Amino acid sequence: MSDIASDFETVPEPYKIKVVEPIKLIARQEREVAIKEAGLNQFLLKSDDVFIDLLTDSGTGAMSQNQWAGMMLGDESYTGSRNYYNLQKSVEDILGFKYYCPTHQGRGAENILFGIIIKKGQYILGNYHFDTTKAHIELNSGLAVNLIHERAYNTSVEHPFKGNIDLEKLEHFIVEKTPEKIAFLLMTITCNSVGGQPVSMENLRGAYQVAKKYNLPIFIDAARFAENAYFIKKREAEMFSYSDGCTMSAKKDGLVNIGGMIGIKEDEELFKKVKQRCVPMEGFPTYGGLAGRDMEALAIGMREVVDEAYLASRIDQVEYLGRKLKEAGIPIQQPLGGHAVFINAKEFLPHIPQTQYPAQALCVELYLEGGVRAVEVGTLLAGRDPETGLEILPELDLLRLTIPRRVYTNNHMDWVATCLKRIAARKDRIRGLKIVEEPPILRHFMARFDWAE
Ligand SMILES: *Cc1c(COP(=O)(O)O)cnc(C)c1O
Repeated sequence: MSDIASDFETVPEPYKIKVVEPIKLIARQEREVAIKEAGLNQFLLKSDDVFIDLLTDSGTGAMSQNQWAGMMLGDESYTGSRNYYNLQKSVEDILGFKYYCPTHQGRGAENILFGIIIKKGQYILGNYHFDTTKAHIELNSGLAVNLIHERAYNTSVEHPFKGNIDLEKLEHFIVEKTPEKIAFLLMTITCNSVGGQPVSMENLRGAYQVAKKYNLPIFIDAARFAENAYFIKKREAEMFSYSDGCTMSAKKDGLVNIGGMIGIKEDEELFKKVKQRCVPMEGFPTYGGLAGRDMEALAIGMREVVDEAYLASRIDQVEYLGRKLKEAGIPIQQPLGGHAVFINAKEFLPHIPQTQYPAQALCVELYLEGGVRAVEVGTLLAGRDPETGLEILPELDLLRLTIPRRVYTNNHMDWVATCLKRIAARKDRIRGLKIVEEPPILRHFMARFDWAE
């Protein structure tokens, strides 16, 4: 790594390409038909109609030759698969957890764990809960509370750890509501919902100390643990020492297309309950909804993701795209986070009221412009207050350009930047949206829209 000149403009990828998957930009008229048929919701597009897919970094990464080779070593025994033990070794070496239980993905881990440790009506405190995590908290009769530091809501404030929880607010909340009303703390690293922003080691330690002071369990939502560790440049295992365990979607920093797991530091009783609940939910705990080959690919992926040369080029690509947009005067969450560039749509499209989903409107426009699929992380995603049914108007309404791992080159990033520059030149003409069909939970996946008057 250190041999690569620091004055070089970008960090070269520490790998070369062996297999390619063709992509195609369909004609403008075809894109117009496709997005209309999808109800102006990019989740409902066919992926063949997408040119560059920045919808999510979840399960969209490319596997290495070693991971593909590992797939051939899959041991598909119903119980006791050798790949389970290989993965156990990776979990222990890299995250430092003694106990683990694989799951089919992150939400499988959440559903098992939350069903055990949440009592009806208890609060779950975190920096900022991810959307499916919040949904599983609510499905398990808990109340999700976000206590991220205020600065995260101001996209132009530079701070190295904008994912930090506000420790004062955290302690105040616990004291005010009493610890009995709190199920556990959950620290999301990096913090996806506010821009892939990292959490500092000091903040993790602080949250751990508060949790222990009031005798509360603390878990880590570990989907992007390696990217977070890269920002603090410390050993991964130390981060996890400030927790009692983790839930993890392996579809991100596991460098696999499917998978997840629960890690537990030392609570043997809890581990026993997790394994018991895994059987009906995900399957026998030595496979947890995964094929043996999937576990093998994950065991290898977890080791590959902590390679600093990989992380340097990964984070650099996010920065590369961010820099291009910033130079074009497009307002983005700063500093740049780990897995995506977030555009502040409220600021970019001030003429569209928040109730007309500015970031979603921009998603539609970006698809029409250049076949680029992005995603809204804002008003649409926030949904409605479960008690009042009223629309929540979050501080931030963001468009997320999520970069899959080891998939696109910087030429693709240039295309995305060019499309956004063209849009910026005529942005005043972009119209807001209204919902015409709305599912009651996780509405963003299936909602349908029309242009507002
Ligand atoms: C993706 C993600 C999840 C959910 O994981 P799935 O594998 O999609 O079920 C939970 N938390 C965070 C922070 C995530 O990014």
